[in-house]
Amino acid sequence: MNLAELLHRRAGAQPESPALYRGSQLHGTHGQWARTAAHLALQFRVGGLQPGDRVALFMRNHVRYLELMLGAWWAGLAVVPINAKLHPHEAQWIIDHAQARWAFVTQDVMGQGDAASGPSRFSGIERQFDVDAADADALWSLNAHMSAPSGPVARGPDDLAWLFYTSGTTGRPKGVMITHRNLHTMGMGYFVDVDPIAQDDRIVYAGPMSHGAGLYAIPHLMAGARHVVPASGGFDAAELFQLGTELGPLSLFAAPTIVNRIVAQALKQGASHQDCARAFKTIVYGGAPMYAADIQRALQVMGPRFVQIYGQGETPMTGTVLNRAHLAEIQHPRHLQRMASVGVAQTPVRIRVADGQGHDVAPGEIGEVLVKGDSVMAGYWRNPQATATTIRDGWLWTGDMGTLDEDGFLTLKDRSKDLIISGGSNIYPREVEEVLLQAPGVAEVAVVGEPHPEWGEAVVAFVVRTAAHPAHGSKPADAPGSGNASGPDATGAQRADAATLDAWCLARIARFKRPKRYEFVDALPKSHYGKVLKRELRERLKNPSGAA
Ligand code: AMP
Repeated sequence: MNLAELLHRRAGAQPESPALYRGSQLHGTHGQWARTAAHLALQFRVGGLQPGDRVALFMRNHVRYLELMLGAWWAGLAVVPINAKLHPHEAQWIIDHAQARWAFVTQDVMGQGDAASGPSRFSGIERQFDVDAADADALWSLNAHMSAPSGPVARGPDDLAWLFYTSGTTGRPKGVMITHRNLHTMGMGYFVDVDPIAQDDRIVYAGPMSHGAGLYAIPHLMAGARHVVPASGGFDAAELFQLGTELGPLSLFAAPTIVNRIVAQALKQGASHQDCARAFKTIVYGGAPMYAADIQRALQVMGPRFVQIYGQGETPMTGTVLNRAHLAEIQHPRHLQRMASVGVAQTPVRIRVADGQGHDVAPGEIGEVLVKGDSVMAGYWRNPQATATTIRDGWLWTGDMGTLDEDGFLTLKDRSKDLIISGGSNIYPREVEEVLLQAPGVAEVAVVGEPHPEWGEAVVAFVVRTAAHPAHGSKPADAPGSGNASGPDATGAQRADAATLDAWCLARIARFKRPKRYEFVDALPKSHYGKVLKRELRERLKNPSGAA
């Protein structure tokens, strides 16, 4: 079934119910949204686009994102969502690879037409619209003579809906083919595993709509709920609190770094649990590791409004879930391990942890995480070779390493390529990071391997100190890698330095796992989606002149 049917139905059953908000301003009802989508579909058809063709969206978060997604599906087209933080040259590569015919952009993310900032118009595109400009307004303006809008074009479950380019921290991104079936499955799974949604619930798009945050439009469309796009088109924790106060409790998806900033804002505002409950219904987090210390703090500050999911572009938002009940069960003997896990398989999928030959490993043993179910992509666009290595016997090989316990909880160790092998022993950076993050004075940490003549690799920790202890103080001991002083500083607070952190690790993990060296930095390099770029840290170690 075409995903646009979800809107078509809602427009029939509840035409007057509020659907789209630009900030706190109502932008349109379900009836209006459906008319706009049907109208855009007609424009696509008049413009010569055929079902199966692709339209690219290179836009900041915008209410027109939702209109375009539904309009494209209504016409049977597939959407190519492009991360708004990519360089226009990178976006051009995606447009070429996806063979997109039309593109919709916002001017703030496009280039100025020079070599450095990139093109202001994409090449190879038949029509490009700036959604804030007059030519787009003309496209949107409903033609009074238009005959009654017809329903969405018929689409089969295996037809392409969403051609998502993986963030690709190495090499060229791959186009993940997501079908109508995949997204229906993800949408229905939300109700069972994450949160039930009622008609007067509201989702706010705090994360990039080109990613999982945007896909959560689907379960909210299924429920006929409201969709709020912040006026800033980006993430601003104070704005989110304000919107929540004005419109009522909001649900959202956010990467852990964003969640940490929302928690910091709650602290800054002195918000009580009740204040947080008035502003936020459910905060779904995922996309990168959320450390046990951070989720504990989030629960303490904001109350029980968190749910974790694990998924990847290849099985969007649908892998495992660590739900409210799991997070609340503090009496459980394995509560701490569960907090550091990503939870249990979501209802629509099966999860296995396997060795290189695809045989299940024993509970507690590390292997690669495999996922099977109706949310798993159809394959990579124009890349059958990559598809064949990634999907084998219907199982998606995620590239994530992890363990399953006897109760079915999955704990991620690392991406297989992040594993450190030192003196023949496997070291999972995540384990070391969890320990270091509990140490006083540590705000963020990333552990990587550094080539070592004797051990193969040596463990190095990049540490961001808490605000009271910036990386580059006036004292020489604060220079990168040289923090050897210990004990309290002038403010009396415990200072994170190499000696104290070493002692901390020695008391908690096996000797061979502890970092051989610490680099104190102001910030960790992160991808546009907030994932720490370990590849860049490894590069820095190979080329110390580039070190922070
Ligand atoms: P992407 O395809 O860009 O969504 O990235 C997916 C990858 O992010 C996964 O393969 C994991 O490595 C990581 N990831 C997703 N969710 C989580 C989570 N809840 N905890 C830790 N890592 C996660």
